[in-house]
Amino acid sequence: MGRMNDLTNTPKSAPKGERPARQRKPDWIRVRAPVSKGYNETRKLMRDLNLNTVCEEAACPNIGECWTKKHATVMILGDVCTRACAFCNVKTGMPKAVDPMEAENTAIAAAKMGLKHIVITSVDRDDLPDGGASQFVKVIEALRRNTPGTTIEILTPDFRGKMRAAVEAICEAGPDVYNHNLETVPRLYPMIRPGARYYASLRLLEEVKAHNPLIFTKSGVMLGLGEQRLEVHQVMDDMRCAEVDFITMGQYLQPTPKHAKVEEFVPPKGFDAYGSIARAKGFLQVASSPLTRSSYHAGDDFAVMKAAREEKLRVENQRRRDRLDV
Ligand code: SF4
Repeated sequence: MGRMNDLTNTPKSAPKGERPARQRKPDWIRVRAPVSKGYNETRKLMRDLNLNTVCEEAACPNIGECWTKKHATVMILGDVCTRACAFCNVKTGMPKAVDPMEAENTAIAAAKMGLKHIVITSVDRDDLPDGGASQFVKVIEALRRNTPGTTIEILTPDFRGKMRAAVEAICEAGPDVYNHNLETVPRLYPMIRPGARYYASLRLLEEVKAHNPLIFTKSGVMLGLGEQRLEVHQVMDDMRCAEVDFITMGQYLQPTPKHAKVEEFVPPKGFDAYGSIARAKGFLQVASSPLTRSSYHAGDDFAVMKAAREEKLRVENQRRRDRLDV
């Protein structure tokens, strides 16, 4: 799942009996408390429809802003994950049975929120024979039936051991954007994403394009986990080799003292520099800022990415015509 993490960034070692002092976050990380009419309405809608969101489960710092605008990322397949990644706040354990109403309720939520673009993600479900792929398909189909004008972005797990069949089924259902996050550089995988393999995740992204090159692909990394600049550049190159269209880069925040600690707060200028490099490497769309998360401003970014692809095709066609004229 595409992980996001929160603001409760607390160091591990506090004297016995004392509340651990909060690690001071730089000013550029601070966000407003989530209090607004729109926030409360989004919250109630999710509760009424028995839907989980990654916004809440991962304690996303942008929840105040997004929910006020009625943008929420629905997390399907329950709220318990079968993996235990070192950066992720979602509960780990043995998940419950899949809610049979989840697909229809997701579509109802999209209609009620009037979403032009929806992002659907899930927990990892290594316990299910298809890893949960058929539930993604059901949700996409329910959205197409109920809100045909809504563009659909999915952010899936790696479907370890069953990736090919899962990706094929999901691509056949026809999402507009397929996101799968690499999360970090390969060197840090054993510590940060021990249940996953970097090259398996890259292969998943390649597989989506092999199956349907028209589906936009998207992937993201968290910065501040101890990665080196050149390692991030290498991840960008790997993504471009897999023809990933859109890269997201955001600051990792430690959800609880039990999670991996923040090694560095990358300043906004650092994110700008990474963003410029990514643009130079040919991504159609780049989002790089401390508070960037996979689904942050996803609808607006989708529109920009679509326009960028159309412009790229127009230029390529023009060049082809020019060559024929010579
Ligand atoms: S950035 Fe994504 S996960 Fe965070 S609140 Fe916004 S929609 Fe939810």
